[in-house]
Amino acid sequence: MAFLKFSAIIIAFSVLFPKNFSLSDAKRVHNSITTIDTHCDTPMKFVNNGFDISVSHEAPESRVDIPRMEEGGLDAIFFAIFTSQKPRNTETYKETYDLANQMIDSTIVSLEHNKSTTGLATSVKDLQKLEAENKRAIFLGMENGFPIAKDINRVKEFYDKGVRYLTLCHSSNNDICDSSTDPKGAEHHGVSKFGKEVIKEMNKLGMIIDVSHISDTAFYDVMKYSKAPVVASHSSVRSVCDHPRNMSDDMIKLLAKNDGVIQICILGDYIKSPDTTSVHYTKMQELKKKYNNWQYKNDDERKQAWAEWDAINKNYPQVLPTIADAVDHIDYVVKLVGIDHVGIGSDFDGGGGLADCTNVADFPKITLELLRRGYSEDDIAKIWGGNFLRVFKAVEKLKA
Ligand SMILES: [Zn+2]
Repeated sequence: MAFLKFSAIIIAFSVLFPKNFSLSDAKRVHNSITTIDTHCDTPMKFVNNGFDISVSHEAPESRVDIPRMEEGGLDAIFFAIFTSQKPRNTETYKETYDLANQMIDSTIVSLEHNKSTTGLATSVKDLQKLEAENKRAIFLGMENGFPIAKDINRVKEFYDKGVRYLTLCHSSNNDICDSSTDPKGAEHHGVSKFGKEVIKEMNKLGMIIDVSHISDTAFYDVMKYSKAPVVASHSSVRSVCDHPRNMSDDMIKLLAKNDGVIQICILGDYIKSPDTTSVHYTKMQELKKKYNNWQYKNDDERKQAWAEWDAINKNYPQVLPTIADAVDHIDYVVKLVGIDHVGIGSDFDGGGGLADCTNVADFPKITLELLRRGYSEDDIAKIWGGNFLRVFKAVEKLKA
Protein backbone atom coordinates (compact mmCIF):
# COMPACT_ATOMS: atom_id res chain seq x y z
CA MET A 1 0.00 0.00 0.00
CA ALA A 2 2.78 2.35 0.98
CA PHE A 3 4.54 1.43 -2.26
CA LEU A 4 1.44 2.22 -4.33
CA LYS A 5 1.14 5.58 -2.62
CA PHE A 6 4.79 6.25 -3.36
CA SER A 7 4.42 5.42 -7.09
CA ALA A 8 1.35 7.61 -7.32
CA ILE A 9 3.39 10.47 -5.91
CA ILE A 10 6.20 9.81 -8.43
CA ILE A 11 3.73 9.81 -11.37
CA ALA A 12 2.01 12.98 -10.14
CA PHE A 13 5.41 14.61 -9.69
CA SER A 14 6.59 13.72 -13.21
CA VAL A 15 3.37 15.10 -14.70
CA LEU A 16 3.59 18.33 -12.73
CA PHE A 17 7.35 18.73 -13.14
CA PRO A 18 8.46 17.16 -16.43
CA LYS A 19 12.14 16.21 -16.68
CA ASN A 20 14.23 19.20 -17.54
CA PHE A 21 15.48 18.28 -20.99
CA SER A 22 18.19 20.37 -22.59
CA LEU A 23 19.24 20.97 -26.18
CA SER A 24 22.12 18.54 -25.73
CA ASP A 25 19.56 15.78 -24.95
CA ALA A 26 17.79 16.64 -28.21
CA LYS A 27 21.08 16.55 -30.14
CA ARG A 28 21.93 13.18 -28.63
CA VAL A 29 18.54 11.87 -29.84
CA HIS A 30 19.26 13.20 -33.35
CA ASN A 31 22.55 11.34 -33.42
CA SER A 32 20.87 8.06 -32.55
CA ILE A 33 17.97 8.20 -35.04
CA THR A 34 17.44 8.80 -38.78
CA THR A 35 16.13 12.30 -39.40
CA ILE A 36 14.44 13.38 -42.63
CA ASP A 37 12.90 16.65 -43.75
CA THR A 38 10.63 15.79 -46.67
CA HIS A 39 10.38 19.18 -48.35
CA CYS A 40 12.54 22.18 -49.11
CA ASP A 41 12.83 24.37 -52.21
CA THR A 42 16.61 24.81 -52.26
CA PRO A 43 17.21 23.71 -55.91
CA MET A 44 15.68 26.98 -57.13
CA LYS A 45 18.70 28.70 -55.60
CA PHE A 46 21.12 26.70 -57.77
CA VAL A 47 19.40 27.97 -60.89
CA ASN A 48 18.76 31.54 -59.73
CA ASN A 49 22.11 32.42 -58.18
CA GLY A 50 24.60 29.55 -58.38
CA PHE A 51 24.10 28.70 -54.70
CA ASP A 52 27.01 26.95 -52.91
CA ILE A 53 25.63 24.24 -50.66
CA SER A 54 29.00 23.47 -49.05
CA VAL A 55 29.21 26.65 -46.99
CA SER A 56 27.06 27.91 -44.14
CA HIS A 57 24.60 30.71 -44.93
CA GLU A 58 22.32 33.00 -42.97
CA ALA A 59 18.54 32.70 -42.66
CA PRO A 60 16.19 33.99 -43.95
CA GLU A 61 18.09 34.30 -47.27
CA SER A 62 19.00 30.60 -47.08
CA ARG A 63 17.78 27.92 -44.71
CA VAL A 64 19.43 24.71 -45.99
CA ASP A 65 23.07 23.80 -46.64
CA ILE A 66 25.41 20.95 -45.73
CA PRO A 67 27.16 22.56 -42.72
CA ARG A 68 23.82 23.43 -41.13
CA MET A 69 22.43 19.94 -41.88
CA GLU A 70 25.43 18.56 -39.98
CA GLU A 71 24.94 21.01 -37.15
CA GLY A 72 21.24 20.13 -36.85
CA GLY A 73 21.86 16.38 -37.03
CA LEU A 74 19.71 16.14 -40.17
CA ASP A 75 20.50 12.98 -42.14
CA ALA A 76 18.35 13.52 -45.21
CA ILE A 77 16.26 16.08 -46.99
CA PHE A 78 14.07 16.13 -50.07
CA PHE A 79 15.01 18.84 -52.56
CA ALA A 80 11.92 19.88 -54.47
CA ILE A 81 12.23 20.37 -58.20
CA PHE A 82 9.63 23.09 -58.03
CA THR A 83 8.04 24.85 -60.97
CA SER A 84 5.27 27.36 -60.49
CA GLN A 85 2.08 26.90 -62.46
CA LYS A 86 1.66 29.10 -65.51
CA PRO A 87 -1.11 29.17 -68.12
CA ARG A 88 -0.78 25.87 -70.01
CA ASN A 89 0.42 26.20 -73.61
CA THR A 90 3.13 24.71 -75.85
CA GLU A 91 5.57 27.42 -74.88
CA THR A 92 5.12 27.15 -71.10
CA TYR A 93 5.16 23.33 -71.21
CA LYS A 94 8.58 23.48 -72.86
CA GLU A 95 9.89 26.25 -70.61
CA THR A 96 8.83 24.40 -67.46
CA TYR A 97 10.19 21.07 -68.62
CA ASP A 98 13.53 22.75 -69.38
CA LEU A 99 13.58 24.52 -66.01
CA ALA A 100 12.88 21.25 -64.14
CA ASN A 101 15.75 19.55 -65.97
CA GLN A 102 18.02 22.49 -65.28
CA MET A 103 17.22 22.23 -61.55
CA ILE A 104 17.86 18.47 -61.47
CA ASP A 105 21.12 18.83 -63.39
CA SER A 106 22.43 21.67 -61.25
CA THR A 107 21.52 19.81 -58.05
CA ILE A 108 23.38 16.72 -59.27
CA VAL A 109 26.43 18.80 -60.28
CA SER A 110 26.43 20.44 -56.86
CA LEU A 111 26.28 17.05 -55.12
CA GLU A 112 29.14 15.78 -57.32
CA HIS A 113 31.24 18.66 -55.98
CA ASN A 114 30.44 17.60 -52.41
CA LYS A 115 30.93 13.86 -52.66
CA SER A 116 32.98 13.64 -49.49
CA THR A 117 30.10 14.88 -47.32
CA THR A 118 26.89 14.33 -49.27
CA GLY A 119 25.26 12.08 -51.82
CA LEU A 120 22.18 11.76 -53.98
CA ALA A 121 19.85 9.10 -52.57
CA THR A 122 17.19 7.37 -54.64
CA SER A 123 16.18 4.56 -52.27
CA VAL A 124 15.87 3.73 -48.58
CA LYS A 125 19.04 1.63 -49.00
CA ASP A 126 20.97 4.62 -50.40
CA LEU A 127 20.02 6.61 -47.32
CA GLN A 128 21.16 3.84 -44.97
CA LYS A 129 24.48 3.58 -46.82
CA LEU A 130 25.10 7.34 -46.72
CA GLU A 131 24.13 7.50 -43.06
CA ALA A 132 26.58 4.71 -42.23
CA GLU A 133 29.30 6.77 -43.95
CA ASN A 134 28.23 9.80 -41.89
CA LYS A 135 27.19 11.62 -45.07
CA ARG A 136 24.07 13.68 -45.76
CA ALA A 137 21.49 12.23 -48.16
CA ILE A 138 19.72 14.43 -50.70
CA PHE A 139 16.58 13.04 -52.29
CA LEU A 140 14.80 14.64 -55.23
CA GLY A 141 11.08 15.28 -55.19
CA MET A 142 9.14 17.14 -57.86
CA GLU A 143 6.70 19.79 -56.70
CA ASN A 144 4.02 20.30 -59.34
CA GLY A 145 3.45 17.85 -62.21
CA PHE A 146 3.49 20.72 -64.72
CA PRO A 147 6.82 19.57 -66.29
CA ILE A 148 5.16 16.21 -67.10
CA ALA A 149 2.85 18.21 -69.40
CA LYS A 150 0.53 15.62 -70.96
CA ASP A 151 3.25 13.08 -71.67
CA ILE A 152 2.97 9.96 -69.50
CA ASN A 153 6.49 8.85 -70.53
CA ARG A 154 7.93 11.79 -68.63
CA VAL A 155 6.97 10.22 -65.30
CA LYS A 156 9.52 7.47 -65.95
CA GLU A 157 11.94 9.96 -67.47
CA PHE A 158 12.00 11.96 -64.22
CA TYR A 159 12.02 8.80 -62.11
CA ASP A 160 15.13 7.67 -64.01
CA LYS A 161 16.74 11.02 -63.24
CA GLY A 162 16.26 10.33 -59.52
CA VAL A 163 12.92 11.96 -58.69
CA ARG A 164 11.24 9.90 -55.96
CA TYR A 165 8.06 11.80 -55.22
CA LEU A 166 5.73 13.91 -57.25
CA THR A 167 3.52 16.57 -55.68
CA LEU A 168 0.70 16.26 -58.19
CA CYS A 169 0.05 20.01 -58.47
CA HIS A 170 0.91 23.37 -56.88
CA SER A 171 -1.19 26.49 -56.14
CA SER A 172 -3.23 26.24 -59.34
CA ASN A 173 -4.89 23.45 -61.28
CA ASN A 174 -2.79 21.54 -63.82
CA ASP A 175 -3.37 18.65 -66.23
CA ILE A 176 -3.17 16.08 -63.42
CA CYS A 177 -5.60 17.43 -60.83
CA ASP A 178 -7.20 20.41 -59.10
CA SER A 179 -5.34 22.52 -56.58
CA SER A 180 -6.62 23.41 -53.10
CA THR A 181 -5.90 27.10 -53.76
CA ASP A 182 -6.84 27.85 -57.39
CA PRO A 183 -9.00 31.00 -57.25
CA LYS A 184 -10.87 29.75 -60.32
CA GLY A 185 -12.05 26.70 -58.39
CA ALA A 186 -12.34 23.13 -59.67
CA GLU A 187 -11.48 22.25 -63.27
CA HIS A 188 -11.42 18.44 -63.21
CA HIS A 189 -13.44 18.00 -60.01
CA GLY A 190 -10.61 15.97 -58.53
CA VAL A 191 -8.00 13.99 -60.45
CA SER A 192 -8.22 14.16 -64.26
CA LYS A 193 -8.26 11.15 -66.58
CA PHE A 194 -4.59 11.82 -67.33
CA GLY A 195 -3.91 12.17 -63.59
CA LYS A 196 -5.34 8.70 -63.02
CA GLU A 197 -2.83 7.36 -65.55
CA VAL A 198 -0.02 9.26 -63.77
CA ILE A 199 -0.97 7.67 -60.42
CA LYS A 200 -0.98 4.21 -62.00
CA GLU A 201 2.43 4.83 -63.56
CA MET A 202 3.84 6.13 -60.25
CA ASN A 203 2.64 3.02 -58.40
CA LYS A 204 4.27 0.90 -61.10
CA LEU A 205 7.59 2.76 -60.96
CA GLY A 206 7.79 2.99 -57.16
CA MET A 207 7.41 6.75 -57.04
CA ILE A 208 5.75 8.26 -53.95
CA ILE A 209 2.52 10.19 -54.52
CA ASP A 210 2.51 13.51 -52.68
CA VAL A 211 -0.95 14.91 -51.90
CA SER A 212 0.20 18.29 -50.56
CA HIS A 213 -1.37 21.23 -52.46
CA ILE A 214 -4.07 19.15 -54.17
CA SER A 215 -7.78 19.86 -53.63
CA ASP A 216 -9.84 17.83 -51.16
CA THR A 217 -11.72 16.12 -53.99
CA ALA A 218 -8.44 15.29 -55.72
CA PHE A 219 -7.17 13.83 -52.43
CA TYR A 220 -10.22 11.54 -52.17
CA ASP A 221 -9.63 10.44 -55.77
CA VAL A 222 -5.98 9.61 -54.99
CA MET A 223 -7.15 7.52 -52.03
CA LYS A 224 -9.36 5.57 -54.45
CA TYR A 225 -6.79 5.18 -57.23
CA SER A 226 -3.44 4.62 -55.48
CA LYS A 227 -2.46 1.07 -54.62
CA ALA A 228 0.38 2.33 -52.41
CA PRO A 229 0.33 4.47 -49.27
CA VAL A 230 0.89 8.16 -49.99
CA VAL A 231 2.45 11.15 -48.24
CA ALA A 232 1.59 14.78 -47.74
CA SER A 233 5.21 15.99 -47.97
CA HIS A 234 4.42 19.39 -46.42
CA SER A 235 0.89 19.94 -45.09
CA SER A 236 -0.54 20.87 -41.71
CA VAL A 237 -3.80 20.39 -39.82
CA ARG A 238 -6.94 22.32 -40.78
CA SER A 239 -8.56 21.87 -37.35
CA VAL A 240 -5.61 23.68 -35.76
CA CYS A 241 -5.17 26.31 -38.50
CA ASP A 242 -8.00 26.77 -40.96
CA HIS A 243 -6.33 26.97 -44.39
CA PRO A 244 -7.37 25.14 -47.57
CA ARG A 245 -3.74 23.90 -47.92
CA ASN A 246 -4.10 22.02 -44.63
CA MET A 247 -5.79 18.64 -44.21
CA SER A 248 -9.17 18.07 -42.54
CA ASP A 249 -9.63 15.46 -39.80
CA ASP A 250 -11.48 13.22 -42.23
CA MET A 251 -8.62 13.41 -44.75
CA ILE A 252 -6.01 12.65 -42.07
CA LYS A 253 -8.05 9.65 -40.89
CA LEU A 254 -8.29 8.31 -44.43
CA LEU A 255 -4.57 8.95 -45.00
CA ALA A 256 -3.82 6.93 -41.85
CA LYS A 257 -6.10 4.13 -43.05
CA ASN A 258 -4.07 4.11 -46.27
CA ASP A 259 -1.00 3.76 -43.97
CA GLY A 260 0.29 7.10 -45.27
CA VAL A 261 1.85 10.03 -43.43
CA ILE A 262 1.28 13.77 -43.07
CA GLN A 263 4.53 15.73 -42.80
CA ILE A 264 3.71 18.90 -40.85
CA CYS A 265 4.68 21.98 -42.86
CA ILE A 266 6.31 24.65 -40.71
CA LEU A 267 5.23 27.57 -42.89
CA GLY A 268 3.76 30.37 -40.75
CA ASP A 269 0.36 30.75 -42.43
CA TYR A 270 -0.30 26.98 -42.25
CA ILE A 271 0.66 26.77 -38.56
CA LYS A 272 -1.30 29.74 -37.21
CA SER A 273 -3.85 31.94 -38.96
CA PRO A 274 -2.05 35.17 -39.91
CA ASP A 275 -2.86 38.58 -38.44
CA THR A 276 -4.92 39.94 -41.33
CA THR A 277 -4.58 43.50 -40.03
CA SER A 278 -0.75 43.54 -40.34
CA VAL A 279 1.08 45.47 -43.06
CA HIS A 280 2.96 42.26 -43.94
CA TYR A 281 -0.31 40.44 -44.65
CA THR A 282 -1.76 43.29 -46.73
CA LYS A 283 1.43 43.65 -48.80
CA MET A 284 1.61 39.88 -49.43
CA GLN A 285 -2.03 39.77 -50.54
CA GLU A 286 -1.35 42.65 -52.95
CA LEU A 287 1.70 40.82 -54.30
CA LYS A 288 -0.24 37.59 -54.78
CA LYS A 289 -2.89 39.50 -56.73
CA LYS A 290 -0.28 41.39 -58.76
CA TYR A 291 1.30 38.09 -59.83
CA ASN A 292 -1.98 36.35 -60.57
CA ASN A 293 -1.83 33.87 -57.64
CA TRP A 294 1.84 33.14 -58.49
CA GLN A 295 1.09 32.25 -62.09
CA TYR A 296 4.02 33.96 -63.77
CA LYS A 297 4.13 34.87 -67.46
CA ASN A 298 7.84 34.09 -67.67
CA ASP A 299 11.01 33.54 -65.63
CA ASP A 300 11.86 37.23 -65.43
CA GLU A 301 8.50 37.88 -63.86
CA ARG A 302 9.04 35.01 -61.41
CA LYS A 303 12.43 36.42 -60.36
CA GLN A 304 10.90 39.86 -59.96
CA ALA A 305 8.10 38.47 -57.78
CA TRP A 306 10.58 36.63 -55.54
CA ALA A 307 12.65 39.82 -55.13
CA GLU A 308 9.53 41.72 -54.11
CA TRP A 309 8.57 38.86 -51.75
CA ASP A 310 11.98 39.09 -50.07
CA ALA A 311 11.71 42.89 -49.82
CA ILE A 312 8.32 42.67 -48.07
CA ASN A 313 9.70 40.13 -45.60
CA LYS A 314 12.67 42.36 -44.94
CA ASN A 315 10.81 45.68 -44.62
CA TYR A 316 7.71 44.39 -42.86
CA PRO A 317 8.81 41.26 -40.97
CA GLN A 318 6.01 38.83 -40.26
CA VAL A 319 5.39 37.85 -36.63
CA LEU A 320 5.93 34.13 -37.08
CA PRO A 321 4.45 31.29 -35.05
CA THR A 322 6.77 29.21 -32.87
CA ILE A 323 7.93 25.60 -32.55
CA ALA A 324 5.34 25.14 -29.78
CA ASP A 325 2.59 26.16 -32.26
CA ALA A 326 3.95 23.66 -34.83
CA VAL A 327 4.15 20.85 -32.28
CA ASP A 328 0.46 21.51 -31.50
CA HIS A 329 -0.20 20.17 -35.04
CA ILE A 330 1.87 17.04 -34.32
CA ASP A 331 0.00 16.52 -31.02
CA TYR A 332 -3.31 16.87 -32.82
CA VAL A 333 -2.45 14.22 -35.44
CA VAL A 334 -1.14 11.85 -32.76
CA LYS A 335 -4.37 12.21 -30.77
CA LEU A 336 -6.46 11.74 -33.91
CA VAL A 337 -4.73 8.75 -35.58
CA GLY A 338 -1.77 7.71 -33.42
CA ILE A 339 1.98 8.19 -33.62
CA ASP A 340 2.53 6.30 -36.92
CA HIS A 341 1.22 8.87 -39.38
CA VAL A 342 3.01 12.15 -38.74
CA GLY A 343 6.36 13.69 -39.67
CA ILE A 344 7.95 17.01 -40.66
CA GLY A 345 8.38 18.76 -44.04
CA SER A 346 9.86 22.22 -43.46
CA ASP A 347 9.22 24.00 -46.79
CA PHE A 348 12.47 25.85 -46.08
CA ASP A 349 13.61 28.09 -48.95
CA GLY A 350 10.00 28.06 -50.12
CA GLY A 351 8.32 30.10 -47.38
CA GLY A 352 8.83 27.76 -44.39
CA GLY A 353 10.34 28.94 -41.11
CA LEU A 354 9.26 29.71 -37.56
CA ALA A 355 10.31 32.44 -35.12
CA ASP A 356 12.53 29.96 -33.25
CA CYS A 357 13.27 27.51 -36.09
CA THR A 358 14.74 29.46 -38.99
CA ASN A 359 16.92 26.82 -40.68
CA VAL A 360 17.87 23.12 -40.59
CA ALA A 361 20.41 23.69 -37.81
CA ASP A 362 17.47 24.53 -35.52
CA PHE A 363 15.76 21.13 -35.87
CA PRO A 364 16.96 19.77 -32.48
CA LYS A 365 14.85 22.54 -30.92
CA ILE A 366 11.72 20.81 -32.31
CA THR A 367 12.97 17.56 -30.77
CA LEU A 368 13.49 19.34 -27.46
CA GLU A 369 9.85 20.49 -27.50
CA LEU A 370 8.74 16.91 -28.27
CA LEU A 371 10.82 15.55 -25.37
CA ARG A 372 9.37 18.16 -23.03
CA ARG A 373 5.84 17.16 -24.07
CA GLY A 374 6.54 13.57 -23.12
CA TYR A 375 7.29 11.95 -26.48
CA SER A 376 9.61 8.95 -26.11
CA GLU A 377 12.74 8.55 -28.23
CA ASP A 378 10.93 5.83 -30.21
CA ASP A 379 8.07 8.25 -30.92
CA ILE A 380 10.53 10.93 -31.99
CA ALA A 381 12.32 8.48 -34.30
CA LYS A 382 8.97 7.79 -35.99
CA ILE A 383 8.18 11.50 -36.37
CA TRP A 384 11.64 12.39 -37.71
CA GLY A 385 11.70 9.74 -40.44
CA GLY A 386 10.53 6.30 -39.32
CA ASN A 387 6.96 6.89 -40.48
CA PHE A 388 8.00 8.37 -43.81
CA LEU A 389 10.47 5.53 -44.45
CA ARG A 390 7.73 2.98 -43.79
CA VAL A 391 5.71 4.56 -46.62
CA PHE A 392 8.77 4.79 -48.88
CA LYS A 393 9.52 1.09 -48.33
CA ALA A 394 5.91 0.12 -49.07
CA VAL A 395 6.05 2.10 -52.33
CA GLU A 396 9.35 0.43 -53.25
CA LYS A 397 7.89 -2.99 -52.35
CA LEU A 398 4.83 -2.51 -54.55
CA LYS A 399 7.16 -1.84 -57.47
CA ALA A 400 9.14 -5.02 -56.73
ZN1 LIG B 1 4.61 23.74 -51.52
